[in-house]
Amino acid sequence: MMRVDAAHALGTVGAVALDRHGNLAAGTSTGGMTNKRWGRVGDSPIIGAGTYADNRSCAVSGTGHGEFFIRATVARDICALVEYRNLAVKDAASKVVMETLVEMGARGGIIAVDGNGELALVFNTSGMFRGYILDSEEPVTAIFAQ
Ligand code: ASP
Repeated sequence: MMRVDAAHALGTVGAVALDRHGNLAAGTSTGGMTNKRWGRVGDSPIIGAGTYADNRSCAVSGTGHGEFFIRATVARDICALVEYRNLAVKDAASKVVMETLVEMGARGGIIAVDGNGELALVFNTSGMFRGYILDSEEPVTAIFAQ
């Protein structure tokens, strides 16, 4: 069993899912950023910023510098690239996380799934706790990029 120290046990938890009927869903829970100002609202509860799902494209949940995720409407932007430009969810996510966010100086990542069950787990940080399960396959978990 892997032990996780307390500092890493707290943080954002996001989930995306595709059900057997083709419905997509996303959810994100976070305590926000360390030392955040009282009353700050991050991107997690803002639909289109840190969280978004649409059966016509994909479901996205994000973690990272929320102010930038809000400005770039990260989750909705990824879905829009899938829907309107027909990008694969991985390519759409890479464009937004590795280009748009990086150009803004923002750090973070996303998990996403499209209507075909294609996944994107993309982050511009050294690691992101993540995992997925496909049908009856064994669950997969990872922290660092490789
Ligand atoms: N995105 C969250 C926020 O800005 C923080 C996080 O995901 O770590 O509130």
